[in-house]
Amino acid sequence: MKTKDLLAISKKFGSPIYVYDANKIENQYKRLVKAFSNVSNLRIHYAVKALSNISILKFMKHLGSDLDTVSIQEVELGIQAGFEPSKIMFTPNGVSIDEIEAVSKLGVQINIDNLSILEQFGSKNPETPVCIRINPHVNAGGNSNISVGHIDSKFGISIHQTPHLLRIIKNTKMNINGIHMHTGSDILDIEVFLYASEILFENALNFKNLDFIDFGSGFKVPYKQGDIETNIEELGEKLSRRFNEFCRQYGKKIALAFEPGKFLVSESGHFITSVNAIKQTTSTVFAQINSGFNHFIRPMFYNSYHEIQNISNSKGKKRFYSVVGYICETDTFANNRKIEEISEGDVLVFKNAGAYCFTMSNNYNSRLRPAEVLWFKNKPLLIREKEDLNDILNKQIEINF
Ligand SMILES: *Cc1c(COP(=O)(O)O)cnc(C)c1O
Repeated sequence: MKTKDLLAISKKFGSPIYVYDANKIENQYKRLVKAFSNVSNLRIHYAVKALSNISILKFMKHLGSDLDTVSIQEVELGIQAGFEPSKIMFTPNGVSIDEIEAVSKLGVQINIDNLSILEQFGSKNPETPVCIRINPHVNAGGNSNISVGHIDSKFGISIHQTPHLLRIIKNTKMNINGIHMHTGSDILDIEVFLYASEILFENALNFKNLDFIDFGSGFKVPYKQGDIETNIEELGEKLSRRFNEFCRQYGKKIALAFEPGKFLVSESGHFITSVNAIKQTTSTVFAQINSGFNHFIRPMFYNSYHEIQNISNSKGKKRFYSVVGYICETDTFANNRKIEEISEGDVLVFKNAGAYCFTMSNNYNSRLRPAEVLWFKNKPLLIREKEDLNDILNKQIEINF
């Protein structure tokens, strides 16, 4: 997307606003498919929680993607978007057995990551094919908040509990049709990922009726120039070769599955805001924007870096700013950041605002959540209106005293 397109969108629809470039999503999807073109049966399950607007889900369907979901509501959204239940995978953590059974009844592939739940589910529904989430205890993550493979993680069934797992499966006579891992976001080192995959391959030999192995996600995308990103092409080449070898050993051509969220949508997203005020203190120049962590929490929550551009003055000389929000809390988007000289009223754009941005937004300070636009074939399509006060009052019960 060009700067002038973003500027035109902010003029037409106002700001703050989220904009997603459909072209970028499509390119990332195709890149992943191409990297694994040597695997005859590849399944890509888009992780809905990254960006769950129904039009985005429909676009994913249009590209040929399946879905990965973590709540019954995401499953229902997927069905509403037109996905066959059989194309949806349910990979929750810590949800009730009732929710798992309700999702399973819809015809969705369930993935269980807890031995107690597995035993209860298997005893009642031995014929339902189930995938199990293994924790290989490989710490492939880039940040302690998002590494889920380590020994004390709440995610997955520990590889050390395999004997117990196998006993439950034998006792309940349940049918395991897939195994899965999701070692954590941000794979920086392909060798670490391949090492975790070896643990999964070894474990897979315990199961005779697998239809697929799901390698989760955690593909790292670049957030700034020169950033390391997961080399998808290299991973595709190495893992495909190893996977095909595994299929020969296993005696069946099973599917290789992934569940990318960030990889598909992060870079497509732009969060457009405008500058309410400039405030100088003794040490700092603050740019105060018309947003806060109610709309965009990743910088505060994960300390994530998002490039900021002043698209009202894109040729301007760069100066140092602290970009902060309007919420009555500390909500710093960027500290001591070099940005093209900012004046009040200028339009600032945050990059990499596609994944875990709108989906984590909320109404703190009784602020309204912003609109969302999909940039498709060089046109801005509004895919969510901005909220109004009715959205805040909806479901509240007013008592008059
Ligand atoms: C969140 C999640 C993903 C997506 O992770 P990304 O880092 O966004 O690609 C995939 N699988 C599971 C089980 C998840 O919980």
